[in-house]
Amino acid sequence: MPSEFELIARFFARPCDAEPGVVAGPGDDCALLAPSAGSELAVSVDTSVVDVHFPPAAPAVAIGHRALAVALSDLAAMGARARWCLLAATLPEADEAWLESFAAGFHALCRRSGVVLVGGDVTRGPLSLSVTVQGEVPAGRALRRSGARAGDVLAVTGALGGGRGGLSAWQAGVRDLDDPLLRAYLLPEPRLAAGEVLRELAHAAIDVSDGLLADLRHLCSASGVGASLQPEALPLAEGLVARLGETAAREAALAGGDDYELLVALPPETVAEAERRLGALGLPLTPIGRVVAEPGIHGIGDGARAAGWQHFPGGAS
Ligand code: ADP
Ligand code: MG
Repeated sequence: MPSEFELIARFFARPCDAEPGVVAGPGDDCALLAPSAGSELAVSVDTSVVDVHFPPAAPAVAIGHRALAVALSDLAAMGARARWCLLAATLPEADEAWLESFAAGFHALCRRSGVVLVGGDVTRGPLSLSVTVQGEVPAGRALRRSGARAGDVLAVTGALGGGRGGLSAWQAGVRDLDDPLLRAYLLPEPRLAAGEVLRELAHAAIDVSDGLLADLRHLCSASGVGASLQPEALPLAEGLVARLGETAAREAALAGGDDYELLVALPPETVAEAERRLGALGLPLTPIGRVVAEPGIHGIGDGARAAGWQHFPGGAS
């Protein structure tokens, strides 16, 4: 059985002293990082817990990918460029084959998104992955939740409902990671490149992690505005209607969690440019409504009271 330090050396720590901005990576008491001049650091942490965020039998490669992807999604939502991450892994046992596959998923997404793993922690306990990400954004230019204005167009990247639909596919026994819904659920793509484009064109953004409606409410309350939504315009994930049926598919797009798309408020004059530049990245951008002055979400009818996912649902506040 490998020791904690052997685990770190074999599966996690990679030489990174030659990486730009990394003065010291794994191995000392802290990593030392040198942010670019003129930039602000965007920092966020997300924890993924077995049986809460992913099923215990999910492929380890997907667990590794997903733990990092959901953290990077927050950098995307601020328009930040992803640079560094830390991984605090709590593991029930040192299963080498499992760790090999987990690390492959984690490191592949690191490479693809230009992120360097600069440190972390390994402890024993129920499986849980806590990933801290750090990105950079030109000072004063981060895309905030609070910038939406009445008259803005609301638009969403990619497609919605895949998180809920993929969970349903998993529960029905689908195990093929090429299945589009299962991919959307277990291998979400953080919209980093889109976030950097939208930083220049949008007034406000949030990533859709709790469900469109819940995250739209967050954006609206941060901006002191309301929204008029066209639910029929929501882009549905591939295979969603076939799996859930029309009504549940629309409900999943509106209130299902785990989609990790970006919801943005754009001034009408930048919408075409945003569609063009995201299209060049292979990512659709779909207008789904408008920002209005009157608070509240309008246009969803009485059926849509769903509040989105909450770990600690409170009262009616
Ligand atoms: P300390 O006891 O000082 O907190 P650790 O023994 O936890 O240090 O870690 C030793 C070194 O290995 C540190 O530089 C730490 O950042 C790095 N490290 C630990 N776990 C991981 C991990 N999962 N991924 C990358 N680096 C890690
Ligand atoms: Mg430690």
